[in-house]
Amino acid sequence: MLLTAKWVLPISSRPVENGAVAVDGDKIIEVGEFEHLRKKRPDEEILDFGLAAILPGFIDLHTHLEYSVFRGACDDLGYEAWKIQLTGKSSPLTADDWRHSARLGALEAIRSGITTIVDITNSGASVHAAREAGLRALVFYEVLGMDHAKVESIMRKAEKTLGDWRAKADSRISFGIAPHSPYTVSPPLFLAASRFARDNNFILCTHLAGSKAEYDFVKYGSGAFATIYRDLVGWNHLLWQPTGASPVKYLEQWEVFDYGPVLAVHCIHLDAADIDILEKYGVAVAHCPGCAAKLAMGVAPLAEFMERGLRIGMGTDSPASNNTMDVFDEMRIGLLLQRATNTTVDNLSAENFVQMATVGGAEAIGLDGSVGSLEPGKTADVIAVDLSHSHQVPARDPYSALVYTANQDNVVFTMIDGRVVYRDGEHLTLDEKEILRLVEPLRRKLL
Ligand SMILES: [Zn+2]
Repeated sequence: MLLTAKWVLPISSRPVENGAVAVDGDKIIEVGEFEHLRKKRPDEEILDFGLAAILPGFIDLHTHLEYSVFRGACDDLGYEAWKIQLTGKSSPLTADDWRHSARLGALEAIRSGITTIVDITNSGASVHAAREAGLRALVFYEVLGMDHAKVESIMRKAEKTLGDWRAKADSRISFGIAPHSPYTVSPPLFLAASRFARDNNFILCTHLAGSKAEYDFVKYGSGAFATIYRDLVGWNHLLWQPTGASPVKYLEQWEVFDYGPVLAVHCIHLDAADIDILEKYGVAVAHCPGCAAKLAMGVAPLAEFMERGLRIGMGTDSPASNNTMDVFDEMRIGLLLQRATNTTVDNLSAENFVQMATVGGAEAIGLDGSVGSLEPGKTADVIAVDLSHSHQVPARDPYSALVYTANQDNVVFTMIDGRVVYRDGEHLTLDEKEILRLVEPLRRKLL
């Protein structure tokens, strides 16, 4: 199959005008000028997207598919109030509800050109949704708990659950472990999860330094997480003392970074020395600017992360927080926030953000050998984004058009592993109508 459009963005090399991508089975076999590729393969089926950009599928480096049905349920709250409300509203949902919610997330991901999700779940709903949708996925089993006495049982359950999930997964789905965050996970549980990650060759993922409330809880033992949240989850009988350290320093002191690769989500509230720590241990960062802005969490020092050579990708953090999985929004918000905060246009470009949403995410999870760019031999995870609408024309530079003008509705084609899963408004792996019908009643449960 020959995919062609006005622009092909391999990401690993310059855009090709009037370009094409040759796909054979699940692999990309050639990328170049359309005329050149067509002459070599005169009998090949051609898919011509016209005034559009063909690029690698997006990697959503941080999401929770199962929370998709919470879209709009916890709006206009600061992070800690949002977290408290989300926790409270989660209790009436059944296992089936979580599954339907995750399927809604998978539907939107594919519709948005996301071909790989990096998901944190406790229910495992995203494993089912990803398999059904044909998504590539790295799924992290979430552990949390502040009671030191329960660490062993939590880790036993983690091992068993991950074994069950693995048995139900396909070859596109891999796994990891995610201690939720420093304000919900005790040091011994962090340590046990780190050792578990090392022993299983897993990446460890954690929400880290996302909010002022987390920072205050860890360093000073104060704030909403020390009071309201601990009451809500029944931890107020457990001792918590201020550590005097920032969340990043605190995890370093507990040797969480010593056991293997770590993916840290957010990384906003950092002390001066914290970026040194992230650099020293090669911690990868999931940058979720839309969620961070909507929940008033702050703006991550992205330009500095890039100067230090950290591996960075873009995350949507699920519709529960921000309220779509639109990677174009995420790139645009991310770039504009950096410009507004740094008052310079010099250090970050639209191209940087497309890189982060593709190859950057792949590097962060060690998948850059197979996905994240369009190169011969890589897996055919490819999308096409229409750039022909009135809000986009004239599209002069493809990176500019993608970041400053496009949105998830402009995705017209999503291919994963060489298999077309979405084309021209139609899902080929998921039953859109049925999923929308199943999630509608959940809205009332969350009122
Ligand atoms: Zn999250």
